[in-house]
Amino acid sequence: NIEVCQIKRPKGWPEMSDFEVKYSTVPTPGDGEILLKILYLSVDPYMRGRMNDTKSYVPPFELGKPMQGGIVAKVEKSNSDKFTEGDYVVGMGNWAEYMVTDGGGFIKVDPSLAPLSYYLGILGMPGQTAWVGLTAVAGLKKGQNVYVSAASGAVGQVVGQIAKNMGCHVSGSAGDDAKVAYLKELGFDAAFNYKTADNLNKALAEANPKGIDVYFENVGGPMLEAVLNNMNMFGRIAVCGMIADYNAKSASEVSTAPRNMTQMIGKAIRMEGFIVSYYPDACKEWLGVCAEWLKDGKISYKESMVEGIENAPQGFLDMLSGKNFGKQVIKVADD
Ligand code: NDP
Repeated sequence: NIEVCQIKRPKGWPEMSDFEVKYSTVPTPGDGEILLKILYLSVDPYMRGRMNDTKSYVPPFELGKPMQGGIVAKVEKSNSDKFTEGDYVVGMGNWAEYMVTDGGGFIKVDPSLAPLSYYLGILGMPGQTAWVGLTAVAGLKKGQNVYVSAASGAVGQVVGQIAKNMGCHVSGSAGDDAKVAYLKELGFDAAFNYKTADNLNKALAEANPKGIDVYFENVGGPMLEAVLNNMNMFGRIAVCGMIADYNAKSASEVSTAPRNMTQMIGKAIRMEGFIVSYYPDACKEWLGVCAEWLKDGKISYKESMVEGIENAPQGFLDMLSGKNFGKQVIKVADD
């Protein structure tokens, strides 16, 4: 059994030496327990926060113990009356090939509905985040103007497609021309490369000729200041993430707060942060909506697949620096 552990707390950008690959024997399930063969695991930006020893809405990873995250697994052996050998499940598990659990927090998933890895993406936490942010937090209405940053990523590509399906004008930005081309393929009305744009204010104005009613914030940094300049009256900003600052070594490296916050007053803008798991009803609702849309071909999903559990740290680091194109998933084993 291979497990990947965190062994050091990073300062700034994490490095490969912060992780260690450990070898052990495949564990045996006890009474009421199941043995999971892990097929896919998810690497997500929030995990960077868990690598620090700081108080947050999720506890830090324990040094020397396997990293944890969303996994899709097959029940290899079951001593539980809740699961049968051959079931496919999704839940929070270890960065490992195999693990034993009492099954708490794991739910069975349907492999015929979509590729199993989608349960870590569009049919999982990132897809739910897009739905929660747009509907429950921002209260998006048909025909409004939506802008999303990190638009080709795990969450962003779903945000754009939901808003299109709701009859909105949708624009997005990404840090690579191929990603921008993909956004246009998805039906975004406008898209631009924020890394090569001369002026973010101008790029946003061109991409949003009627201004922005809803901003789905994924990045923070200078983007937020430029967005405020382009927001409409009574606009809403759903603050989902600020990845531009996750690897800041100290407060002095964190992006300067927008210098134009006074616009929130005159434009009566509502800006609200959220954590997806605080909205269980909307999360459940999304699974129904998404299953229908997948069946009807009204939504699609791009993934970036890295093979092998031992490559999970590199896949994670690549995602943080934007080398992923779509949802970053680690394929651990064939079914
Ligand atoms: P992505 O798949 O979008 O991957 C991260 C992307 O962020 C990279 O591909 C890169 O894309 C972009 N990025 C990295 N650094 C910067 C930077 N300095 N400025 C702008 N963009 C940058 O990740 P997710 O879709 O999983 O997550 C998107 C955001 O949503 C994150 O901020 C995450 O923390 C947040 N999130 C919040 C949740 C919540 O409950 N609040 C739940 C899930 C996610 P590019 O090439 O375009 O730069």
